[in-house]
Amino acid sequence: MTKSMQVNDAGLWVKEFIEGFVASGENSLKNESNDPAWGKPLIGFSRGDDPIYTQMKEDIGSFFLTPPEIFAKTFPSITVRPDELTVISWILPQAETTKRDHRKETTLPSERWARARKYGEEFNAKLRKQLVEMLVEAGYEAVAPIDSPFWTQKMSERYGLSSTWSERHAAFASGLGTFGLCDGLITPVGKAMRCGSVVAHIQIPPSQRPYKDHQDYCLFFAKGICGKCADRCPAGAISREKGHDKEKCRAYVSGLTKEYVLSHFGFESYACGFCQVGVPCESGIPVKV
Ligand code: SF4
Ligand code: SF4
Repeated sequence: MTKSMQVNDAGLWVKEFIEGFVASGENSLKNESNDPAWGKPLIGFSRGDDPIYTQMKEDIGSFFLTPPEIFAKTFPSITVRPDELTVISWILPQAETTKRDHRKETTLPSERWARARKYGEEFNAKLRKQLVEMLVEAGYEAVAPIDSPFWTQKMSERYGLSSTWSERHAAFASGLGTFGLCDGLITPVGKAMRCGSVVAHIQIPPSQRPYKDHQDYCLFFAKGICGKCADRCPAGAISREKGHDKEKCRAYVSGLTKEYVLSHFGFESYACGFCQVGVPCESGIPVKV
């Protein structure tokens, strides 16, 4: 592919690359049977000048970087118009066997889930890197914001510790899902997933956002029912009144689960995600919109 390709072809080119990489042997839990960590991905696009990114910045805090800002910091010598940038976002749904095993647990992670958190996320990191390399080799400057030295965490007045770039927010902007009571992103393949994104100097038509509000797909916000993610959380970090308590969540995940994964499965990682399985939004959108 070269810079002269048609814009629609560029979207297809990127999509086929991501799907091909997920279908490859790289996608592995690295267990004895070498099971895939992820199912078929979802891919969405949003434009660098989409006002939703400015709204996120206003909402989260001035430290949050919009696509043009992360691009300008990464490539200070290149001048581009914001509309010439595309955010490429993807969703990697947890494998069915991983969800099956994790549904049975209530306080500490199943081995497959812990492997997905470690080896599956390593695959996700490789996907970001290889997508960037493919784009750059074809003449399109690109950056994976969370791999950038400009990715960091700061204190948001409204949301506590927050990132300068959020994979879930990029996915929301790219039409891939809306937020639930537990802060997870509910996508057409559910909330049991990991996501990633790359900002590139390439023009790809943006995906439609088939929702009006950022919480449309959650039963609690849409209909005042459910709250199952709060019941599933072993740390009491989700409540119907206050939503997700990030501090309580972080303390549980990085403390108890870390020790457990090392002592029971023999590798270093942490994992929880009970709020993502055994709930109505686990594998799909529970609300008709
Ligand atoms: S489990 Fe229910 S309340 Fe929690 S995010 Fe999913 S739909 Fe919303
Ligand atoms: S990741 Fe674990 S501790 Fe955090 S909200 Fe979900 S279930 Fe609770």
